[in-house]
Amino acid sequence: MNTVTTAPALEADVAFDCPGNYRAATPSTLRCSKCNRPLAVKDAQRTPTGYVCPYYVKARVATFYTAGPKQYILAALIAFILGIGIGFVLQFVGRIGFFALILTLFVGPAAGGLVAEVIRRVNGKDRGQYIWLVAAIAMVIGAAYFAVLPALFALLAGSPGFIFALIPIVGLVIAVTTLVARLRF
Ligand SMILES: [Zn+2]
Repeated sequence: MNTVTTAPALEADVAFDCPGNYRAATPSTLRCSKCNRPLAVKDAQRTPTGYVCPYYVKARVATFYTAGPKQYILAALIAFILGIGIGFVLQFVGRIGFFALILTLFVGPAAGGLVAEVIRRVNGKDRGQYIWLVAAIAMVIGAAYFAVLPALFALLAGSPGFIFALIPIVGLVIAVTTLVARLRF
């Protein structure tokens, strides 16, 4: 085993020691820009400040996303409960008649934005990598009874009103898109 002596000056340059003690499987001239360990090309992850070892990325993701099960459950509950109300409102708006679609184009984004805002306030600074996904699914399930089922029944019944029953679904799709965009970025 080779003992590599590292100059103290070089060690001082290393600002961050990546956890996990990464070791390249093959000798490499490439080095992790954070911990300075030799870095195999196949493991290298590109960042704005240079190539880093896989452990650096994992450590950064772990410190950035601090949400635990509690935040996920809260996000799911909020999205589900508000989703029921949103489904009801979308169905109501969809029945107004001529202006239903235009109104839906306003209600959809507002509904998605509202859910995202409530989740963000309740969860505070705890961010979760997949909160957006959990919230989106919960909102769709919550809204399905009022916004999706009527269209399904109209379709099964071969009703000519089927096309109008689709309006709440359009609203829900817009709401979900807005929610995901607000929570994800
Ligand atoms: Zn590293």
